[in-house]
Amino acid sequence: MKQHYDLIIVGGGMVGASLACALAPAAQALGLDIAIVEPVPLRADDLSYQPSYDARATALAYGSRSAYERMGIWQTLAQHIAPINEIHVSDRGHFGASRLDAAQQRVPALGYVIENHWLGQVLLHRLQQPECGRIDYLCPAEVAQIVPGDGQMSVTVSRNGVASSISCELVVMADGGRSELRERLGIGYRYSAYEQHALIANVSPNRPHRGIAYERFTDQGPMALLPLQEQAGQHRCGLVWTLSDDDAQALMAADDTGFLEQLQQRFGYRAGRFVAVGERHAYPLQLVLAEEQVRTGLVVLGNAAHALHPIAGQGYNLALRGLVSLADHLIAAKQQGRSLGDLAVLQAYHEQMRRDQQRTIGFSDGTMKLFTSTSSLLTLGRNLGLQALDACPLGKTLFARSAMGLDMPAPALFSGEGQG
Ligand SMILES: Cc1cc2nc3c(=O)[nH]c(=O)nc-3n(C[C@H](O)[C@H](O)[C@H](O)COP(=O)(O)OP(=O)(O)OC[C@H]3O[C@@H](n4cnc5c(N)ncnc54)[C@H](O)[C@@H]3O)c2cc1C
Repeated sequence: MKQHYDLIIVGGGMVGASLACALAPAAQALGLDIAIVEPVPLRADDLSYQPSYDARATALAYGSRSAYERMGIWQTLAQHIAPINEIHVSDRGHFGASRLDAAQQRVPALGYVIENHWLGQVLLHRLQQPECGRIDYLCPAEVAQIVPGDGQMSVTVSRNGVASSISCELVVMADGGRSELRERLGIGYRYSAYEQHALIANVSPNRPHRGIAYERFTDQGPMALLPLQEQAGQHRCGLVWTLSDDDAQALMAADDTGFLEQLQQRFGYRAGRFVAVGERHAYPLQLVLAEEQVRTGLVVLGNAAHALHPIAGQGYNLALRGLVSLADHLIAAKQQGRSLGDLAVLQAYHEQMRRDQQRTIGFSDGTMKLFTSTSSLLTLGRNLGLQALDACPLGKTLFARSAMGLDMPAPALFSGEGQG
């Protein structure tokens, strides 16, 4: 551990580790010293210990692929990834339905489903390679305090019960939606609890999923069924089921047979008969939006800045676009000889992301409210909307481009070649 870094990233979860990977070539070429601090080791034998890389699977928008291609890890990620060839959207017990198809949209896939623990392993493996030699991965270690100073930040890192103070130009807080540091720094945030839980589990249907992702709206809450890579010859799908707090508790307590019966009854037989379910986990759902995301020497990133309802699978994709944009701004600042903590640099980054954040948060929150409403007028409206979408190729293309993260400019990450 050095006494001074250019950048300290608090949290080695999906967002913090991806930011470090995005900066790795520039760190090498431009001489940037980076530390990433994470309290929870990623263990190969029991991945459930790591809160960011737990049993969940994440739907990556097609547009997010280019971010990982530019980081040089897409080929490795792709070894255990399931492409989404079709998306079926339907409303249980009503007439509305819509289908989106990769071939019609002229893309190789509408998106990709990756299991979080695989993403974590690939990111951390990358950070341990010699070309990431300027990045110190401090783990297990925790950031206990951040104090803004004169021209630099002072960060207290606690490691094996020993606290040390290190300095840096910029701190990026990627410490998740329940960030305690955000509160300690007096950063206000908007919080609204949805009074819902997302119940997640891997389930096995009795037939292949053929790359179809389902978004099914039921009177008990929306359900997403995502295609996963087969394992030991077993077909697998990732279930994300949004439920009221009480219903989630009851389904968590049900035995496997009871759970599968209820799942089948709610979901129907579109994906076949469900024959097995893995471990179940429930996540309380809330909308969290930090009121300040940048200060001199400080950026709040990922879930610490904005935690969304998972209904539209947008939270991580938004965070990924944000971290790529931040990396671009930091690299440009370094090339111009400016401090990474320069407020004007950080404000320019935030300004670039503001519209994307507002739009994505509005889309996720609006979709959740529209599809969890039991009002008969709204039910009719959304069914007519789904039918109209299904019948209108232009509408479908626009919707698909938005859901695939393709209507945002592709991230342009520093490659390290011919620069520096
Ligand atoms: C059920 C569910 C399904 C989802 N599905 C999708 C999807 O399909 N597509 C999508 O785009 N998004 C999805 N999301 C959203 C996605 O999971 C989040 O956007 C993502 O986890 C955010 O990552 P993060 O690194 O910001 O935060 P976290 O994953 O919370 O990681 C924070 C990290 O910071 C560390 N940390 C905390 N405090 C400290 C400290 N003091 N010092 C150092 N380190 C610290 C923690 O140990 C942790 O590793 C889903 C969310 C849920 C709940």
